[in-house]
Amino acid sequence: MKQLNSRRAFLRGRPLRAEKAYIRPPGAEGADFLELCTQCDECTTACPENIIAFDDNGWPVVRLETAPCTFCGACAHACPTGALDPDRMADWPWRADVAASCLSLNGVSCRVCQDTCDHSAIRFRLQPGGRAEPALDRDICTGCGACASACPAGSISFSRHIPEATL
Ligand code: SF4
Ligand code: SF4
Ligand code: SF4
Repeated sequence: MKQLNSRRAFLRGRPLRAEKAYIRPPGAEGADFLELCTQCDECTTACPENIIAFDDNGWPVVRLETAPCTFCGACAHACPTGALDPDRMADWPWRADVAASCLSLNGVSCRVCQDTCDHSAIRFRLQPGGRAEPALDRDICTGCGACASACPAGSISFSRHIPEATL
């Protein structure tokens, strides 16, 4: 416990930007997640997709590169402390981004992300020279991660769609 408390004290003193890099499970937005989470492991155990792991400091993170989140809510319902709240799941702020390493952007035919997206959030625009550029509509994207887990190049990451301060 002593080690846990010292880690918390250390992290509380870190700039807010450091926390923003982590994709916390659905229901974490709008709460003081690091204050409320006791690292009890209930959310990781509850996730039927097995996509919740721990960051280097022991707090849960969703690894969308391994499998999509179905937004089933099992993690938030299992949380005993309010760090995750089922009523806040709609505030999921993450949306997909395509990186420059994308195969299609580099002249290799690939449409895996488009084929995987149930929401048709990814379309391709033909460019001169035969390249096809993926265009991702962040207003349609749900941040589910289906594209990220399927991408053969690991070219899809996630960033905030909604500034944290407005949640
Ligand atoms: S909402 Fe469901 S699939 Fe998504 S991280 Fe939580 S338990 Fe896993
Ligand atoms: S699946 Fe990955 S590599 Fe293929 S087009 Fe989409 S982002 Fe590019
Ligand atoms: S995160 Fe989900 S909704 Fe968004 S582009 Fe990828 S597959 Fe489509």
